[in-house]
Amino acid sequence: MVQGNVRQTAIAAISEVKPVGGVVDYEARDLNEVFGEHVFNDAVQRARLPAQVYKNLRETIQAGKELDPAIANSVALAMRDWALEHGASHYTHWFQPMTGSTAEKHDSFVTPTDTGEVMTKFSGSDLVRGEPDASSFPSGGLRATFEARGYTAWDPSSPAFILDNPNGATLVIPTMFLSWTGEALDKKTPLLRSMDALSKQAIRVLRVFGNKTAKQVLTTVGAEQEYFLIDKRFYLNRPDLVCTGRTLFGAKPSKGQELDDNYFGAIHERALSYMAEVEYELLRLGVPIKTRHNEVAPGQYELAPTFETSNLATDHQMMTMEVMTRLAGKHGFACLLHEKPFAGINGSGKHNNWSISSDEGENLLNPGDTPHANAQFLLFCAATVRAVHRYAGLLRVSVCGAGNDHRLGANEAPPAIISVFLGEQLSDVFAQLEAGAAQSSKTAESIEVGVSMLPKLPRDAGDRNRTSPFAFTGNKFEFRAVGSSQNVSGANTVLNAAIAESLDFAATRLEADIAAGKDLNVAVQELLTEMIAEFKPVLFDGDNYSAEWHAEAERRGLPNLRSTVDCVPLATSPESIELFGKYKVYSGRELHSRQKILLENYATQISIEAETASMMAHTMILPAALKYQTDVATAVNGAKAAGVEDAAQLALLEDIVSTSGAFRQAAVDLDAAKGAEAPEDALACAKYQHDTIIPAMNKLRELGDKLEMLTDSNYWPLPTYSEMLFIR
Ligand code: ADP
Ligand code: MG
Repeated sequence: MVQGNVRQTAIAAISEVKPVGGVVDYEARDLNEVFGEHVFNDAVQRARLPAQVYKNLRETIQAGKELDPAIANSVALAMRDWALEHGASHYTHWFQPMTGSTAEKHDSFVTPTDTGEVMTKFSGSDLVRGEPDASSFPSGGLRATFEARGYTAWDPSSPAFILDNPNGATLVIPTMFLSWTGEALDKKTPLLRSMDALSKQAIRVLRVFGNKTAKQVLTTVGAEQEYFLIDKRFYLNRPDLVCTGRTLFGAKPSKGQELDDNYFGAIHERALSYMAEVEYELLRLGVPIKTRHNEVAPGQYELAPTFETSNLATDHQMMTMEVMTRLAGKHGFACLLHEKPFAGINGSGKHNNWSISSDEGENLLNPGDTPHANAQFLLFCAATVRAVHRYAGLLRVSVCGAGNDHRLGANEAPPAIISVFLGEQLSDVFAQLEAGAAQSSKTAESIEVGVSMLPKLPRDAGDRNRTSPFAFTGNKFEFRAVGSSQNVSGANTVLNAAIAESLDFAATRLEADIAAGKDLNVAVQELLTEMIAEFKPVLFDGDNYSAEWHAEAERRGLPNLRSTVDCVPLATSPESIELFGKYKVYSGRELHSRQKILLENYATQISIEAETASMMAHTMILPAALKYQTDVATAVNGAKAAGVEDAAQLALLEDIVSTSGAFRQAAVDLDAAKGAEAPEDALACAKYQHDTIIPAMNKLRELGDKLEMLTDSNYWPLPTYSEMLFIR
């Protein structure tokens, strides 16, 4: 019974595993042909749509013009034919409800006719609007008081694609998800609204700088995805990983990440063949994956795409997580997207690289080489920093969650204090601007807007200040607090709205100054000086992990919102309602509903963790410890019967008895805590989980991990940290 426990069986099987190959072969297939072959993209649209319909659709996509309903039928027809040629039998409206994942309900193209035959049917109305039975999606109370129904609405700016399956294929149509009263029930709708808001204000600023031709300003996103791969055989023997995505028990391994030998190391062959297939699948779906490498922790990796417009980047990011999860099983892995699968080992984040560019292709956060470009760049850059300073609390809300709470502030990810890293040279430029305009005559060192050139700003490569939550990296900002499992739309919605407000502020001022006859450069210089003085406290280039910074940040009045329960109340603060209301990103009701969902999700996640921890304690860990205790007791008794007594052996028995006793008591205490009646109010309920349940789980874990180090390994039912992180 001891021989061949689940761990030993798993290890024996893993030692025989070979990398799974045979799918990707770029010698046989041209990369160009592979890229986007499963996407109803621009080229396919041009080839298949009548010229006028194509033109109309492009205008809708590019200029955000309302779609002419008359063309929907024509697009639907072309889309259907294309999908059927790709083996699709079904179509689905694909959306991003507030669950955090994506949702799809498949409908067949096939419809029976009166004559007992079937035909394929897919009309414009099937394309444009769907009505999934959506009553089970979280609405945070939005649908209780209004209609129970929700509907999906086609988003033409994100192209439809084919989802392949060993038994057929499905046409997937990206959509928004709304209530019948027009309130957003999803994560895409507010993102699109925020992009619109930012575009309007950014265009005003561009006009001030003399640009008369740009029609739209787009936000761009490239989200780097960190993740862990562990062998599936281990994963399936860890109920905590299966049910909660993270390990609730597990003693510290003898080797962790101390040697720093994993980062950028040679990629393990099995992992590499997995990555290659993930990338191949994503390339077919038109998702441009660019980079792959080992991350800091053992078993941890990263993949990064080439950036795209926020909306498309977000959809592609969701597809990326889905493909990663789906293909892992085929390669005998489990892909862990949780922010903190292993205590004491680095967690995973999603660095959200962000910039703004005009529809003419000009990156507005690119310093450029002329004084004119400098002034415009400095203003967009300052507007971004001002927004981060003013709305740091809301940015913190946008990345909150039970999983990410483990990461932010755990000396490995940026802290919960939101600050901005500009790098030495740009900091210096800002310092000069602040001082410069304050003096009547400028010193030789000070930057003068419209006259001076900026020094070349270096790109922050590799390791340079990885501790900052919001870093300027040469021609974009990188928001690093986003969690690895999170949909990036939340963070980008807040960013866009907050920056729209700053651009609005700047445009309003400059328009008035110019109307009053002030010189543009003088006006910009004065405005920058004022803005810098205001947002200066948020600038910090030092070590964000240090205790000194935490004390300093407090002196500067920067919020330090450590946990989800600390920050979520800000979602409905007057500043939040004012900001999102003014730019029509979230209504007050939408904010209240989202706040409720955040709190409910948090409480539910912790309570699932508590249930799982309790189950594992009672049915897996305690039985193993007690079996070993019996062995030791038998040995001690046997020795005693033979006339030998050893104090150290007795001490071992005492240790096991007292630890397993205390462990059982901790499990009983956790049971009592989770059995107590939960408070009605969503915030109170989440706080109860945070203040009472989490400490009870921590106590249980501490004793459980001690038992792991005491108990005969042959009895131990849970794959250990060393096994999961190092054996593959
Ligand atoms: P770094 O070395 O600073 O990490 P990379 O060039 O490796 O920069 O890019 C990291 C990520 O940032 C990639 O996903 C990339 O596509 C993205 N990125 C680059 N430029 C932009 C931009 N203008 N807007 C948004 N994301 C960008
Ligand atoms: Mg980076």
